[in-house]
Parts: sequence; structure tokens; C-alpha cells
Amino acid sequence: MQITDIRAIQPAGNNSPPDWRTSLGQILVAIDTDAGITGYGVGGGGLAGQHVVKTVLRDLLLGRNPEEISQLWGEMYQATLAFGRKGIAIMALSGVDLALWDLQGKREQQPVVELLGGTPEIKIPTYHTVWSTEDLTATGEHAGYKLHLGKVAAPEQRDLMVASIEQARNRIGNSPLLMVDAWMKWDIESTISISQAIKPFQIEWIEEPLSPDDLAGYAVLKEKTEVPIAGGEHEFTSEAFRPLIEQKLHTVLQPDVNWCGGLTELIRIYTMAKEAGLRVCPHRGCEIWALHAITALDSQPLAETGRPWMTWVKGQPDIRQGMIEVSDRPGFGLLFDEHHLQLVN
Ligand SMILES: [Mg+2]
Repeated sequence: MQITDIRAIQPAGNNSPPDWRTSLGQILVAIDTDAGITGYGVGGGGLAGQHVVKTVLRDLLLGRNPEEISQLWGEMYQATLAFGRKGIAIMALSGVDLALWDLQGKREQQPVVELLGGTPEIKIPTYHTVWSTEDLTATGEHAGYKLHLGKVAAPEQRDLMVASIEQARNRIGNSPLLMVDAWMKWDIESTISISQAIKPFQIEWIEEPLSPDDLAGYAVLKEKTEVPIAGGEHEFTSEAFRPLIEQKLHTVLQPDVNWCGGLTELIRIYTMAKEAGLRVCPHRGCEIWALHAITALDSQPLAETGRPWMTWVKGQPDIRQGMIEVSDRPGFGLLFDEHHLQLVN
């Protein structure tokens, strides 16, 4: 089989981010082959991500055998090394990698979960992310809830955040898991202080309290916080996860498969984390791109609800009674007509 074309577009969803300059400006990558099969993947980077796909990665992959995913990943990484390694170039590469995996599944008439040694239609528990305690109504369906404090998370807002977290626990009751997301806006001192204050509310993890670059800060938190630390959604490639894993700087690792380098890298991160005895809980795990890996590779599976504007990705499984499962359709099992998508730009 040979790759005959690669395309990248940015479809619009309901309430999707209005500007491409956001990590959530998700692009669709399509890879055509001479066998008449097209593979689809989703990456990040908006207009800039599309440009990387349409120029550097397309030039590299035309005429190549799409079955050599690992080899092609290495060549794409090398071709973007001088300006890539993290951020938009790897987000774009992620979409191409996922499209190659979709192709592989379609070629072998197997869902991706089976390519990874797993079985479809296994029910995975979910947790729901909200941006306000007001949204914690009608709870009880999900295994857990995450309060995202990105809009108010500043160290000087400590008391307000602690009160919100207490309110969240009161709203959901004692049983469900409760997590807190600081979206890289706290500092060492406030994280230690807040973790002490919220410990009575049985918090499963504090997510991304510091910048992903502050490994020294995370080393301090590892010794001094009362609540486990999670992170990794803004980190790229398995090589960058290596120090996080080797030094056990996070208790829970949260790679985003559409940004971190695709399924190829997510598998490597799962392998490294398993050897170290650490947990992986991929960012946006209910979106289909990560769910196949969670189903096949995870010993403690838990899938985060997806972003509500990804409405153009048809064929995603629904959450029923708090559980989600991948279909047995080939590849990632998506159903959509790329030629009828409305575009952002
Ligand atoms: Mg987060």
C-alpha cells in the first residue's frame, strides 16, 4: 500500500473555539492510499498545524508505505526536529500518526483496540469535567467529577478555590471521585497550602498546579503535598514524559493523544508508566482517539469526558449510565463525510 495524498482541515463544531490560536483548534488529517482506503486522525495546531501537515509531513509521506508507522513517526520527528519537539509541530504530527493507525485498522478490518491486543465493547467508567460548581447538578452518573479552576486559579484566590472545592464535594456527595485542575496557575507554596486545606474533601488528584517546565517544583510537591499530583496534558512526546516517570514527579500521567505525538507515543508512555508502577489517565479519554488505548492498555481505566465542541467527529460512542465503550468498527470506528464538514478557516 502507498500513500497518495494527505490533507488537513479545521472543521467547526458547535461553540468551537473562534480562533485557531488555541491548543483546542483541532485539525482533521486525512491520508489517502492507492488501496482506496482513507485514514482519519485529529491533531492540534489550527492553521499552523495544517501548514506543517500540508508541507513538511506531506512531502515526507507521499509514496510511502503507511503500515510502517513507527518508522514514519521517527522520520516525521526528525524532519521537524529543528523547529518542533514540543507544541504545534508535534500536535500536527499527532493527527498524522492517528490517521496512520486508523488506516491500519481499516486495512486489517479490525478496531484499533484489537490492534493493541484488547477487546471492543468493554465498558469503561468515566469522569466529568466542569468549569463551575454550578454545573455539578444531576450528578451520580459518572465515577468522578473534576472541577476545572482555570478561570479563577491564582494563588491569591486560595480561599475562594478551597470553598469551591468544598462546595463541589458537598454537591456530589461522598461516593464519586473528585479531582481539581489548577491549569498551571498555582505556585509551590499555594499548592502545598491548598492541598492541606482540601485533604478532608477526599481529593483524588490535583492536576497541573505548576508549569510543565517546572520539574524542580514538582519534585518539591512530590515530598510536600497531601494530595496526589497529576499532569502531562501539556507535555509532548514520550521522551519528555521520561523524567516525569523516572523521578515519579506525577502520580497520574495525562498525555493528550491528539497533541503528545499520537497513539504511537501514547503506547510508549503507557509502557514506561507500567514499568514504573504509575497510572496513566489520558486527557479527554472519552474522545475516541484515546479510548481504544484506554480499553486495551489500562489496568485502572477511567475516561475523561470530551470537549463539547467536537461535534463534527461523528460515530463517537455515547456515555450511557456513566460508562463508555468503543465499537467493533474497523480503525477508530468513526462515521463521517469529510466533504460535508463546515470549516473554521
Ligand atoms: Mg487539565
